[in-house]
Order: sequence, then structure tokens, then C-alpha cells
Amino acid sequence: MEIYLDNCATTRVCDEAAAACLRVMTEDYGNPSSLHKKGMEAENILTSARRQIGKMLGCDGDCVYFTGSATESNNLAILGAAAANPRGGKTIVTTTVEHPSVAKTVEYLEEQGYTVRRIAPKPDGNFDPQDFLDAVDGDTLLLTFMMVNNEMGTVLPYQAVIPALKKKYPRLLIHMDAVQGFAKFPLSVKRLDIDLLTFSGHKLYAPKGIGVLYVKKGVRLKPVIHGGGQEKGLRSGTHAVQLAAGLQEALALCDRNRAAFQAHYAALNQRLREGVAKLEDVLVNSPENGAPHLLNLSVMGVPSEIMLHFLETKGIYVSSGSACAKGAKSSVLAAYGLPDERIKSALRVSFSKDSTPEDIDTLLEALAEGIAKYRRIASL
Ligand code: PLP
Repeated sequence: MEIYLDNCATTRVCDEAAAACLRVMTEDYGNPSSLHKKGMEAENILTSARRQIGKMLGCDGDCVYFTGSATESNNLAILGAAAANPRGGKTIVTTTVEHPSVAKTVEYLEEQGYTVRRIAPKPDGNFDPQDFLDAVDGDTLLLTFMMVNNEMGTVLPYQAVIPALKKKYPRLLIHMDAVQGFAKFPLSVKRLDIDLLTFSGHKLYAPKGIGVLYVKKGVRLKPVIHGGGQEKGLRSGTHAVQLAAGLQEALALCDRNRAAFQAHYAALNQRLREGVAKLEDVLVNSPENGAPHLLNLSVMGVPSEIMLHFLETKGIYVSSGSACAKGAKSSVLAAYGLPDERIKSALRVSFSKDSTPEDIDTLLEALAEGIAKYRRIASL
């Protein structure tokens, strides 16, 4: 038996996406840069995938750029914007809870002389939109922040913040890391007037190795990767056409079922919240109004790794924080103001379209067993 509840780390590729990848790898395997028919066919596959993404983002397909991961998209957005605007503002605004692919990239620019302002969440885990308005000024080149936090599920106030800032500072560049929110919440880059937006295929039932960067028409970026000039010179390297085809299928599935998937995650989240409320000393860290596809909780007195590996012996897979943290104490949970004891025992449970209520019940039984076992040991 395997119960996979670590879908914020990555998801199982859906059958439709896997079939599309195989078809492209074995039949439509041309290089889109080739001038012959096989190349044209491959180019058409990319165009069709861009169109699907454009439909979901509310933009033209030609604003969609393929990369190798959301990490790469975030690097390209932030470093590319800075390099393209050497005489622009020298301040970057971000938050204290960003994924390392944003946080470390911003840190790198800080080392190069940029001033960085980092906005912290409030004690209830939510962000105050006013803090964003106060942090940005006329010298701000870029605001880069996430849509949904990957460890806690907090939804950041992008809907209020972006239009207000764009109205006050029309030249401000706004980048949103939408890895945990895209295809889950309705989103229109045009309506929000967002400049740059990132997401990743493998969190959405597509294969690993493909990320996307949306770039608003007229926004200038310098490439990070130089070479053959693919993606209009912004991201050189032969296209992974099979991954784009898989991504298109996975996104079409997410798009068709968006509301149903969200309702499904919400029901599982509620079941887990109700279940852990009956367990001794389990505290829920995620806010009530968080994204439904994940729940962060702490089993007080039992270190995350101990419980994680105990659950693993039962065939249940969860995370002790974000997958990238690999057991390191989460600086993001600290930024949310959680006390050390709570951080050390934090577990992130994240659902997929295929997770079932029975999976949650089995997890709850295993948690109860683990608590009884390890708290007894701790008290010896
Ligand atoms: N941003 C957020 C919010 C994430 O959750 C992740 C992955 O965990 C990333 C960026 C990086 O995505 P990728 O694995 O495609 O590099």
C-alpha cells in the first residue's frame, strides 16, 4: 500500500500527459528549430501548448516562455529584469517566506549592491496589503513575491496589492511565483496587470523538467542562458517538446476540473483538520483561509523526521517542510513566527486529485499510533 501525500513536492504524472510525452518522443520527435516538416510539426506542438497556457493565464500564447523548472523561471525573471534595467531602480521588494529560488536569487542581487526590503507575515500567518504599499517606492525596480506559500498554504494578497501598486507606480515590475497557486485559483495576468509570472509542470501532474515564465509584452529581460537563441533569445537550448506536450495535457485536465479539484482538496483538508483536532497535542499551523491542497501541522514532542519515517513504514509519504529543505530547519516556518518546538515537529500533508478520504483516515490512524509510540519513548 502506498499513500502519497507529498504533492506540493511533486505529483504523479497523469496518464494523459505521460501518453502525450511518449507520443512526441517516439513519433513527433523533430526539433522545432529544424526547417523541414518534422521541425514544423514539433513547432506546432509548442504553439499548441503555449495556447493552452495562454488560455489559463489570460494572455496570448506568445507571452509564454518555456524553461527547465520554476527555479530557472524565477532566476530568469529576477536576474533578467535587473540586467535589462541597469539604470532602473536599485531596490527590490520581496517577502520573508519565499521559496529559495526567489530568496537566494534576491540575496545574490543584494550582494551586488541592490537594497532589498522583505515583508513579513502577521502573527495569524496572513500578509497585510498595506505593508506592500509601504515597502515600494519610486526607486523600486521589482516586487517579487509568491501567490501561495508552499509550506503553509497562505494565500498572499496579490489581488489587492498588484492593481494598487500598478496604479501608483506604473513602471514597477511585478513578478509572481505562482507555483502553488496557478491552475488552482482563477488568474488573469491581463486583469491583474502582472509583468512576470512563474509556474512549474511537475506540481500539476506534468513531468519534471519544464517550467514556464510569462513575460508581458514590452517587458525587457536579459537572458541568463546564452546559446542558439530559442524562445526568442530568452532561453537558449533545444526545446523539450515532449515535456511541453505533456504539460499541455496535464493543464487541460487541471483546467477542466479546476473547481472540482479545489472542492476535493478542501474536503480532504477539512477531514484532516477534524481528525487531528481529536488527537493529543497536534497543532495546525496553516491558516484557516489557506489554500486547500495542503495542511501544515505539528505533532508536539515528536520530531518531524521521526514521524515522517514512522509514517513511511506504513507506506504513507508526507514532508517535514518543503522538499528542498531536506530535513533542515525551515526558515520559512520561523519567518511565520512559529516557535522552535513547533517547527521541529512540523509535517506538511499535501493532496492530489487521486487522494481519497480513506487515505486521510489511514494517515490519522498512523499518526495516533506514532504519537502513542514516540511519546511513550520520550517519557521513559
Ligand atoms: N516556487 C515554489 C513556491 C515552489 O513550491 C517550488 C517547488 O517546490 C519552486 C518554486 C521550484 O520549482 P521547481 O521544482 O520547478 O524548480
